[in-house]
Amino acid sequence: MTNAEAVDLGKRVFTPSYKQQPIELVRGEGARVWDADGRRYLDMLGGIATCALGHCHPKLVAAVEGQLRRIWHTSNGVYNEPSLRLADELCRRSFGKRVFLCNSGAEANEAALKVARRFHFSKGAPERVELVCAQGSFHGRTLGALAATGQPKYQQGVGPLPAGFSFVPYGDVEAVRQAVGPRTAAVMLEAIQGEGGVRVAPRGYLAEVRKICDASGALFILDEVQTGVGRTGTLWAHEQEKVVPDVMTLAKALGNGLPIGAMVATEAVGSALTPGTHASTFGGNAVACTAALALLRTIDEEGALENCRRSGDYLEGRLHELQRRVGARVAAIRGRGLLWGVELDGDAASLVARCRELGLIVNLAGEKVVRFAPSLLIEPADLDEAVDLFGRALA
Ligand SMILES: *Cc1c(COP(=O)(O)O)cnc(C)c1O
Repeated sequence: MTNAEAVDLGKRVFTPSYKQQPIELVRGEGARVWDADGRRYLDMLGGIATCALGHCHPKLVAAVEGQLRRIWHTSNGVYNEPSLRLADELCRRSFGKRVFLCNSGAEANEAALKVARRFHFSKGAPERVELVCAQGSFHGRTLGALAATGQPKYQQGVGPLPAGFSFVPYGDVEAVRQAVGPRTAAVMLEAIQGEGGVRVAPRGYLAEVRKICDASGALFILDEVQTGVGRTGTLWAHEQEKVVPDVMTLAKALGNGLPIGAMVATEAVGSALTPGTHASTFGGNAVACTAALALLRTIDEEGALENCRRSGDYLEGRLHELQRRVGARVAAIRGRGLLWGVELDGDAASLVARCRELGLIVNLAGEKVVRFAPSLLIEPADLDEAVDLFGRALA
């Protein structure tokens, strides 16, 4: 299939849910991808913050190929080793003691919402059902996750949504203090708002929210679907804020591109999902869990977190240099590690298309923010190329 044929078929057979660039990607290697017409691109989006160690990392390919020959899937009526080892590994590497495995970010957040309500229910506080969430947040497209998403444009025409959700400005401690009360089940936030435009919370914000939750008896849920698994330079973004949530959700990077999500909780909270209260047919899929295990191991072996911090600093420097050159057209640069947003003065959609024409894959987070979330193993030479191409697209 050529790019043109892909566009033609896609426009006929898919629900028109996505705004898609007119290319079909057929192959990837590290930070490079190739389209159906043989053109090569630098993938500064890393899938979509999913391919944490780039495309088709040989160690991950080998691990997954091995598992494909052993067993793909079992029901959750029995155990399989990759899912056991993955849950154990996530607990060893985090505050967590209990893990629910699923297939996506939205599902991980659904599990988090359910476990928060069930926790209070089982503690004899069934009135604690309300969720305090942030304006501009993004937690996924299923109805529960969407109810927690503070962006009205995503909620239009699909209501009624589950009740009990309220919204506060992201980064405002006092607003959280006002919103949390005796009926609050949990405060749910992203460590950095990703889809909402790469908005980094002020230092100390998450720690203050933790204190408010503790004082009131509400739980603290951190959505690390985008920031988790190394994206910000530590395995979990909350480590850098020195806070420990009660629940953390993961997905995007966890399978390096294979579909997997996880809800990680403390003992007290996680054990509220008693037998029969939650389930997922594909949760704990042996192939996806093998990819996630191989990813965690390879992050260590290849020093991906150190590279993320080093390359992230380098990218930040190059972006600021570019801003000095182009002036007010770049309104702001925000991010941490290898998650960066460049806010433009005005519409950015045509800029993303221009980047693609020049051989650079990026996307939009919000209307005016171009997002970079490349492989955690990306090297300075590739970042130089990315910023040069981005600069040419701007000019
Ligand atoms: C992408 C994202 C989700 C949704 O994940 P899906 O796998 O698309 O359901 C949820 N929360 C955050 C912070 C995300 O970035």
